Amino acid sequence: MSATPASTPRLFVDLPLGPDTAPVIDGAAAHYLLNVMRLKTGDPLLLFDNRSGEWLGAIADAGKRSLSVRIDRQTRDLEAVPDLWLCFAPVKKARLDWIIEKATELGVARLQPVITERTIVERVKAERIEAQIIEACEQCGRTAVPTLADPVKLPQLLKDWPAGRTLLFADEAGGAPFASVDAPAPAAILTGPEGGFTDRERALLLASTDVRRVALGPRILRAETAAIAATSLWMARHGDWT
Ligand code: SAH
Repeated sequence: MSATPASTPRLFVDLPLGPDTAPVIDGAAAHYLLNVMRLKTGDPLLLFDNRSGEWLGAIADAGKRSLSVRIDRQTRDLEAVPDLWLCFAPVKKARLDWIIEKATELGVARLQPVITERTIVERVKAERIEAQIIEACEQCGRTAVPTLADPVKLPQLLKDWPAGRTLLFADEAGGAPFASVDAPAPAAILTGPEGGFTDRERALLLASTDVRRVALGPRILRAETAAIAATSLWMARHGDWT
């Protein structure tokens, strides 16, 4: 199987792909391929569908606003992503973008916004976050797209918590050193907002069965740093970085 050049555009399509499919791409993706990348009929591209893995194809017909693709061969199977959820209190724009992009690159299975008492961000724009997830998947080579869950309040999250999934609660007030905690999948990480967790929330978390309180060193990290540091530590030990 010959390798595809690293410069080959790689795109998510929300259509089932296979050897006998002829996907048509339109909208923003078509605009990007035709007008930004300036692709022409015959140019190669990689497509993935979050269902069947990744496929190499070529543009069969480049129109003005849409293009059709001829599928040549499968390049990768759908990957089995490590079963790690990132539960995070949404933070302000650029920092939230950073959490989404980096967590996707690092390999989380699910992104769960959690509304805490000190969360100041009022609305999480799902469409915007979805777009960032897709872009990060396209860039980093993921074939499985992480799930974006609807925001939930912390007490509800705990109430509905699936038994047996360890929740690693990153507590700025201290806990067991993260790297010393053995928490294989299924697992989840919880990080707080800019203002941290309240005492009431801390008490609620510590009274929950699957929760383990973890510390990320002696310094107070920004919420996004904490989310990414914790995800990296977990991936290195229990994920697919081996
Ligand atoms: N304003 C708070 C800090 C909030 S930091 C204060 O001054 O205490 C935002 C979130 O990042 C925290 O709620 C926690 O989940 C995580 N975090 C930051 N530093 C951490 C650390 N050293 N250990 C564990 N979690 C940390």
